[in-house]
Amino acid sequence: MKTEKTDLLVIGAGPAGISAALYARRGGLAVTVVTKGIETGGLAKTEKIENYYGFAEPISGKELLRRGAAGAERLGVQIVEDELLALSFNDTFDGFKAQAQQHEWEAPAVVLAAGASRRTLPIPGVAEFEGRGVSYCAICDAFFYRGKQVAVIGSGEYALHEAQVLQPHAGKVMLLTNGEPLQVPVPDAIEVRTQKLAAVEGGDRVTGVRFEDGTELPLDGIFLAIGTAGSSELARKIGAMLDGTDVKVDAQQATNVPGLFAAGDCTGGLLQVAKAVHEGAVAGLSALRYVRAKRSSK
Ligand SMILES: Cc1cc2nc3c(=O)[nH]c(=O)nc-3n(C[C@H](O)[C@H](O)[C@H](O)COP(=O)(O)OP(=O)(O)OC[C@H]3O[C@@H](n4cnc5c(N)ncnc54)[C@H](O)[C@@H]3O)c2cc1C
Repeated sequence: MKTEKTDLLVIGAGPAGISAALYARRGGLAVTVVTKGIETGGLAKTEKIENYYGFAEPISGKELLRRGAAGAERLGVQIVEDELLALSFNDTFDGFKAQAQQHEWEAPAVVLAAGASRRTLPIPGVAEFEGRGVSYCAICDAFFYRGKQVAVIGSGEYALHEAQVLQPHAGKVMLLTNGEPLQVPVPDAIEVRTQKLAAVEGGDRVTGVRFEDGTELPLDGIFLAIGTAGSSELARKIGAMLDGTDVKVDAQQATNVPGLFAAGDCTGGLLQVAKAVHEGAVAGLSALRYVRAKRSSK
């Protein structure tokens, strides 16, 4: 896969991501926005919006998303539909590398605007064993499971990616789809179980899972990778601080990782379009200043 270079990579094409892209692009940066699709995210589920500036009649969330993306593209923002799987530092540690299903980018700055973080598994034991055998980040925790038996819970590309990150470290890696059909071909070395899960079990630490059919599977570690990588998963992978599942930012929308900014629902607070647009604008301008300063110091 060829690595593409851009000045600013924005993750998410909702109101926060597009707003960030507009401000950074107008400041002269080459901006790439990656999204799972233009009509995705929180806004796509909104039938009617009546509390956002500028519309005499209610507007649907999907229409607002389409208009947002079209406006950004008119200014020269590149919008790419793909699923981002991982965010890391590039080889020289002076910027970021982002890996998606079909693309790979390098950028000196990133705005994380992937929407509200979610997705845990509503079964007994998951919350209880968080940090004691239940993890949300393979790249962060793989090292602790050298030679051990671990499982990734999920059924898509993101789950497979996490399993492959674990493979060189763990003794055995399994994929538990929790009743979902597998969405990707999985190499033979990764054993797949499709039964529905009933509970995560353990004492001081995780010892395994129990399925709804009553069978049990001993495990040393469980990695959650349900659906696609969300804001908090991507933030965790690069060492950005979280408050619960909210990405922690300062008044300039900067995270603790230099060059990484975050905006919109992923930072918590008021989960509304107006706040996402405001934070996106601040993040876009902060990223612009950051990239300019980096260039002038070279
Ligand atoms: C049912 C409902 C009704 C609502 N009604 C209103 C309302 O009336 N008024 C109002 O102001 N707000 C409303 N909201 C809230 C509003 O939709 C959100 O506050 C707003 O969409 C947040 O914008 P965002 O840009 O932060 O994230 P989102 O709009 O959620 O966008 C997230 C983006 O990230 C992308 N993304 C996520 N993960 C990945 C990945 N791994 N790879 C690539 N791309 C990724 C998605 O594809 C999407 O483009 C409503 C929300 C819901 C759910």
